[in-house]
Amino acid sequence: MKKIVTAAVVAAAVLLAACGKEGTPPPKGPQPSALPSYRVESGAGITGSSTLDAARSRGHLVVGAKEDQPYLGQKNPATGQYSGFDIEIAKMVAADLGFAPDRIEFRTIASANRETALQNGQVDYYVGTYTINDNRKKLVGFAGPYYLAGQSLLVRRNDATINGPEDLDGKKVCSAAGSTPYQRIQKDYPKARLIGYDSYSACVDNLITSQVDAVTTDNTILMGYAAKVPDELKVVGPLFSQEPYGIGTPRNDTVLRGALNDALAHHEENGDWRKAYDATLGLSGVPAPTPPPIDRY
Ligand code: GLU
Repeated sequence: MKKIVTAAVVAAAVLLAACGKEGTPPPKGPQPSALPSYRVESGAGITGSSTLDAARSRGHLVVGAKEDQPYLGQKNPATGQYSGFDIEIAKMVAADLGFAPDRIEFRTIASANRETALQNGQVDYYVGTYTINDNRKKLVGFAGPYYLAGQSLLVRRNDATINGPEDLDGKKVCSAAGSTPYQRIQKDYPKARLIGYDSYSACVDNLITSQVDAVTTDNTILMGYAAKVPDELKVVGPLFSQEPYGIGTPRNDTVLRGALNDALAHHEENGDWRKAYDATLGLSGVPAPTPPPIDRY
């Protein structure tokens, strides 16, 4: 016990030192203590999924995720641990498949590489702000949706010239290659000077240093970046798309897709979804919505 207390005191001191000036609150982020734990089922009744069979003989699941999206999917560089709403979704459904959280290996996969990762079997499923749409359904499967986001804009706090997508003409706009927000700017706002990077965090770095004028993607992601440096960045304008988040699966594994839909429904009903939201994405200030209806196509 003494050891634990000492460790906690040291951790607090380190945190305080990291804050710089005294009295500065620690950076916001998922608070592990408030996270729900999920009852691990046997999963034995789920048969005929080649993805699950492979995971069972491997001994663990491999789940694709993001590592640089605050409140959603973030990797702690010191511990290697992933946290956030998407990570909780991945854990709650894994529990119904028979896998405890310590039997999930998370692997970071960028937006542009998700379909290939699922097609090549690099990951068993993917949970990372992944919009369900018909084009992607030709390549992968989707369970869900489990959340509904919408495209928005992140700009520097002192910039009054951009207040919505119609203000983007001639502006340098950054997004992740292969993402739906990138594709929408290309198609609907062709006068914007669109720049594609691997990750949104690279876009945000370039926004702060004035190399680009705006970052565009889902409001959920942008709110997380703005919350980290509210003196420098703000989210502006209306939501100009619908981005229903799904769990990506190998396309032909309909058993896995069905089991994931059952698992989502189960955890939405028993309150886990809500608790997970409140402990993660809810910290960005938006109260928990009702999850969208699951689409069993
Ligand atoms: N939800 C959008 C997409 O799936 C943007 C977020 C992302 O790139 O992960 O393309």
